[in-house]
Amino acid sequence: MPQVLVPTVCPYCAAGCGFFIAVEKERALGIEYMPEHPASEGSLCSKGNAALEILYHPDRLRTPLKRHGDGWARITWEEALDLTARGLGGPLKKYGPNSIGFFASSKCTNEENYLIEKLARVLGSKNVDGCARLCHAPSVVGLNRTLGAAGMTNPIKDLANSKCIFVIGSNLAENHPILSRWIHRAKDSGAVVIVADPRMTHTAWMADVFLQLKPGTDVALLNGLIHVIIKEGLIDREYVAKWTRGYEELAESVRDYTPEKVAEITGILAGDIVRAARSYAISPASVILYSMGITQHTTGTDNVQAIANLALICGHLGREGTGVMPLRGQNNVQGACDMGALADFYPGYRKADDPETIEYFRAAWGVDSVPLGRGLTATEMIDKAGTGEIKAIYIVGEDPANSDPCSQNVRAALDNLEFLVVQDIFMTATAQLADVVLPAAAWAEKEGTYTSTERRVQWSAKAIEPPGSARCDLDIICEIAKRLGAQFNYPDAASVLAEINRVVPQYGGITRPRLDDFGLIWPCPNLNHPGTPILHTQGFKFSEGRATIVPVSYKPAAEDSSWDYPFILTTGRVAVHHNAGSMTRRSPSLLEREPNLFVEINPFDALRLKVADGDEVTVTTPRGETVAYARITERLKKGVAFMPFHFPGTNILTSEVRDPEAMIPEFKVSACKITRRD
Ligand code: SF4
Repeated sequence: MPQVLVPTVCPYCAAGCGFFIAVEKERALGIEYMPEHPASEGSLCSKGNAALEILYHPDRLRTPLKRHGDGWARITWEEALDLTARGLGGPLKKYGPNSIGFFASSKCTNEENYLIEKLARVLGSKNVDGCARLCHAPSVVGLNRTLGAAGMTNPIKDLANSKCIFVIGSNLAENHPILSRWIHRAKDSGAVVIVADPRMTHTAWMADVFLQLKPGTDVALLNGLIHVIIKEGLIDREYVAKWTRGYEELAESVRDYTPEKVAEITGILAGDIVRAARSYAISPASVILYSMGITQHTTGTDNVQAIANLALICGHLGREGTGVMPLRGQNNVQGACDMGALADFYPGYRKADDPETIEYFRAAWGVDSVPLGRGLTATEMIDKAGTGEIKAIYIVGEDPANSDPCSQNVRAALDNLEFLVVQDIFMTATAQLADVVLPAAAWAEKEGTYTSTERRVQWSAKAIEPPGSARCDLDIICEIAKRLGAQFNYPDAASVLAEINRVVPQYGGITRPRLDDFGLIWPCPNLNHPGTPILHTQGFKFSEGRATIVPVSYKPAAEDSSWDYPFILTTGRVAVHHNAGSMTRRSPSLLEREPNLFVEINPFDALRLKVADGDEVTVTTPRGETVAYARITERLKKGVAFMPFHFPGTNILTSEVRDPEAMIPEFKVSACKITRRD
């Protein structure tokens, strides 16, 4: 049988790089690059290059399992699906639809996420959410409120047109490596790069101006930049007058954020704050990129709104080389949000508490009713599992027992459920707690669409068969839905996409036949529409086309260092791992390069603690302790420590305190102490 090249989308980050899987005799043999791809241009980072390693890993789940004493029993699909339907249907009947919850998956296709959302809603449950709750929920709230749309405003390759690139709270050189190629291209054309981060990351090495701020002081920094820009008369007056409302209130609110005062709060030199403000404001085209360093705070929504304010007063929106770019993490977290995997939205960002939304979906789905009102977020579902108010949860492709803060509490809460079903490709820490485990196909073993961080919807084709009796998520969801009385007759992903085309206006023209040439960027409302790479070219969707400037004040993080816990622990990613690590820790070439959990400490702190590079240390927070190897580095200021969150120990330590609106936990700031293990 000759070798065939199957087009696919990288299963890791949301840059959405495309490549071909070379398939021969039904085996995925290797990768062929895709030089014409608009975002990756034939390149892949270390994770993309290693993507096939997980497909044939011996840990892959091959058959449905049910809990049997302390172990597992293999069961047939019939038994597994019946058990699942009973496990969800029992509480549904006995306690009502809001006693059950659903976790959608940013690793799954749009079609699968749409079906999970639809299943929850047609069963009457409001409780459907996803891992965006842990990464970009503040972007959804903050950008919808200010700009009227929650996606990246400009496409990735437009970075090359920018003359000033401001990266805040994102180590994109390691997390979205392919994006940094476009920044280097802009730099080669003379662009200025500003990076704000508590840690001197690989991204910071690209910076002309590096702002090393204390964790959790982003609003103070952003307000300080706005203060300087207003004081020096650098705002775009014409743009502000034509396209915004709320400027006067903002000007009043930042009056006290002088560079000197902001320097005291953030630890950045006042002169650097002025330099950064001038560079961003006076460049003809400036862009802001941010990621979880901005969102994973109790002030995550405020941080996002402050970013939008900065872009709006300088008029750096709606043109090439400008924009606000929230860099999404997992490969389909943007699409999962688009499909309604958020407790407060139905598909297409229709608000769950709007009666018109309910009428729209009741009619679109041909059902008597769907629930009105915001449901429980993923983090709240865990809380309510712990208190016994949520009785059963269906988790698809997520691992909250590793990825949520204070993971020991998460495990106890999930253990408290009457029924937990987990559908995944590996036996994750969350799957270990389940009553039933359903083996799912990996991305290369199924087909469907993924929406990258630039809102690009791409079709990924099926290359190989899943291992053992594993099945694609779409089939499994439909089988469970049918057993629970829902009419889910979808033979394939294309049939679901056809329904999405009808129901989600932003995806109206994104049909299967139009997706062969690297996809389309939403909004794309009809078949003749070419897609919309740049948002807000003609103003905003609010009345008179004006965006809303929302003044925000600096509030300290929930935790600060103290006598007992003298360090601020912040968390993030490294180049060769991804998210909770369930895939990259099973990828031999990646694990070899970063096999262990480590904690970075400044040399002065290390001296005081009598810790040498490579020593084992215990890191302790008020929630628990974990062991890691010390890595001594000047990348951090004194009193700050850093740990990657790809290993199970890190989230034992992190804080459960949440942003009050977006309900995202403050992963980025935990008070901790570090002691050497003798
Ligand atoms: Fe995959 Fe992201 Fe790397 Fe591209 S940058 S190859 S999408 S992990």
